Amino acid sequence: MKLVKQALLALLAAGTLGLAAPVARAQEQELDQTSILAVDLQPQPYPPFVAVKVADDLWEIPGSGSNSNVMVLVTDEGLVLVDVKYEYQYDDLVKIIREKISTKPIKYVIDTHYHADHSGANVRFRQAGITVISSTPGRADILAKKQPGAPAGMVPANVTFTGEMRLYVGGKEVRINHYGPGHTNSDVVVYFPQDRVICVGDLVHIGDLARGGQYPLIDYNGGGGLNGWIQRLDTITADFKIDKVMSGHGTLGTEADLIAYRDILERVRRDVRAYLADGTKTQGDLRAHLNKGELHWPDPGLAVLRGLHGLYLEFKP
Ligand SMILES: [Zn+2]
Repeated sequence: MKLVKQALLALLAAGTLGLAAPVARAQEQELDQTSILAVDLQPQPYPPFVAVKVADDLWEIPGSGSNSNVMVLVTDEGLVLVDVKYEYQYDDLVKIIREKISTKPIKYVIDTHYHADHSGANVRFRQAGITVISSTPGRADILAKKQPGAPAGMVPANVTFTGEMRLYVGGKEVRINHYGPGHTNSDVVVYFPQDRVICVGDLVHIGDLARGGQYPLIDYNGGGGLNGWIQRLDTITADFKIDKVMSGHGTLGTEADLIAYRDILERVRRDVRAYLADGTKTQGDLRAHLNKGELHWPDPGLAVLRGLHGLYLEFKP
């Protein structure tokens, strides 16, 4: 929440957001393309990383600040990482892995999606000769610089896939699935069958981000969409037996948390669809409604602003 406020203050200071009442449609479209997240993407101080044991062979390095949660699978052959935070955090990330988890070689990095808080450190892992895996759209989106304000020099995965791929490392299996657009068009989920643990990236927020009233950030510019997002979560619960869920940010959870977040998204969809149903509403109306609708989300909020235009187009009759 603090980050959201900081970002908004910075935007207000920069004059990006007008305080005047109704925003013209042209401005709204421009706002949607504006680098609203860029404020968070610049290097910021962050608390020291810690390592939290999730299962005998799995460790989480929780996000501290805006950077992503990271999962580390330990095998006799080496390590598999899911998400890698920002480039400038690479040294601290590797240090905590070496000190608290394992000194075995890092074999693979998997990006849950193309956003820099998850894949920014790809560049350093690639320089170290480590294979980085993402969905095929995940690579394309980094090359196309789809994320407004992303750091210069972002490097994509060097192995990509669509549908499903499986890794077999040190006698362990890792399932990686790309089901289609959700939070972005590049989201993958990573499942560790031996532990029934799944990493879902930003398809789910657990903890304060979900409960504290932050609107879901639907990255329409990066090919995301709300209908697809809900479908993705339905597919995940149907396809996997899940004991623990690591979301992209926030605390470790269970399948019940995933389903609860899916239900939040469903409430957003129902609310937005009903509000736009008579065909008379503008984007400005929708923005105001998101504050007054069923879920009472704060306005302006970063996620509301960034996804507003896409949300309007997705549900306008
Ligand atoms: Zn994201």
